[in-house]
Amino acid sequence: MRQKKHKFIPVAEPGFSGNEEKYLLECIRSGWVSSLGEFVTKFGTEFAKYCGTKYGLPTSSGTAALHLALLALGIGPGDEVIVPALTFVATANVVTFVGATPVFVDSEEDTWNIDPEEVEKAISPKTKAIIAVHLYGHPARMDEIMKIAKKNKLFVIEDAAEAHGTEYKGKKVGGTGHIGAFSFYGNKTMTTGEGGMLVTRNKLWVRKAKLYRDQGLRSDLRARQHYWHTVVGYNYAMTNIQAAVGLAQLEQIDRFIKLKRRNARLYNRLLKRVPGVELPPEKSWAKNTYWMYSVLVGPEYGMSRNELRKRLLEKGIQTRPLFYPITSLPPYKKHFRKKAFPVARKLFNQGVNLPSGTPLRTIDIKRVASEIQKFAQK
Ligand SMILES: *Cc1c(COP(=O)(O)O)cnc(C)c1O
Repeated sequence: MRQKKHKFIPVAEPGFSGNEEKYLLECIRSGWVSSLGEFVTKFGTEFAKYCGTKYGLPTSSGTAALHLALLALGIGPGDEVIVPALTFVATANVVTFVGATPVFVDSEEDTWNIDPEEVEKAISPKTKAIIAVHLYGHPARMDEIMKIAKKNKLFVIEDAAEAHGTEYKGKKVGGTGHIGAFSFYGNKTMTTGEGGMLVTRNKLWVRKAKLYRDQGLRSDLRARQHYWHTVVGYNYAMTNIQAAVGLAQLEQIDRFIKLKRRNARLYNRLLKRVPGVELPPEKSWAKNTYWMYSVLVGPEYGMSRNELRKRLLEKGIQTRPLFYPITSLPPYKKHFRKKAFPVARKLFNQGVNLPSGTPLRTIDIKRVASEIQKFAQK
C-alpha cells in the first residue's frame, strides 16, 4: 500500500471518467480505426460548435493544425509572421516549416501574452500574419490584435493549444481570428493522446487545410480518382481511435474547466499572502481556464524558482518551469537581441507551473501550497 501522505503529485494528469472506454470499444469492434470513421467527423463538428465557429478539422497534433493554418493562408518563403517570444516552441517552428520568418515580440506583464504595442512595432512590409497564443489558459488581447491586423491587412491565427474553453469578453477563443488551432496532447485541458484541431468559419481555408492534411488528395475526387494528388501534402489526419477519446473528453469539458477554476481559486486563496509569490493573471474581461496554474517566484521569496522546484520534487511534487523565450533556443539564436524581451525573460526566470490536472484533490493542493508557504519562512 502506498502511503497517502507521500503520494506523488504529477504536474498534469489526465482524467478519463466518461465514455472513453465505451467509444474506444466501438471503434475496435467496428473495425474503423484509421482516419475515416464516424467519431472523426462528429468530433470535428462538435468541437467547432463548442468554440462557436463553423468548421472543425481534426488533425494528428496541435503542431499539425498550426502548420495547416499557415499553408491554408498561403504563407511561405519571404513572408514574416509575428509570434510571441514566450510560447511553446511549436508556435515558431510551424513558421519555419513553411519557409517564412518568425518575428518575435515581447509579452505583457499583466496577461503573459503577446503585447499589442510590440506587435505594431514589429510590422514590416513583409508581415503576413500574427500568431496570438492564449498562454496557460489566459486569453490574449484579441480586440487590439484584430484591429492591428485589419489596419495592416494581416491574418490572425489563434494558437489556442492551451486554452480550450477560455473566454475573451464572454466569447470562447479559437473562433475570433481567421483560423484557430488546438492541441489534445496528454497534458492539455482535454486530450486524445496526441491530436489537434483546426477551426475556422472560412470554407476555402478548411478545404485547403484538408487537402494538405490528406496527402494532397482532394476529398471531392477521392472516391472516384484514387491516388490523384494535386499538391505535395502531409499525413496529418486524426484517427477514429483518437477522435473517440476526444468526443468523450469533449462531453466532460465543462466539468474539467470548473475543476481547473476551482483548483486555481483554492491555490490563489492559499498562496496570496506568501511573500514573493505572484499569482497568475485573470483580467476582468477574461475567463482563464488555467491549463497550467502558474506563479512567479520573486526575489522576496528568499529562494530561486529553480531551488523551489527542487525542494518541491523532494516532497514528491512535480512542477515545470515556464517556457524558455524562443530566441534563447539554438535554432532561433540568430533572432536574439541583447536586452530584448525583458518581460518574457522575467516570466521564464520566475515562473513555475504547479500541479494542475483535473484529478487533483483538495488535500493535494493544500499540500503543495503548505510546502510553498513553509519554504518561504526559511
Ligand atoms: C502543446 C502546444 C502546441 C503543440 O501541440 P501538440 O499537440 O503537442 O503538437 C502548440 N502551441 C502551444 C502553445 C502548445 O502549448
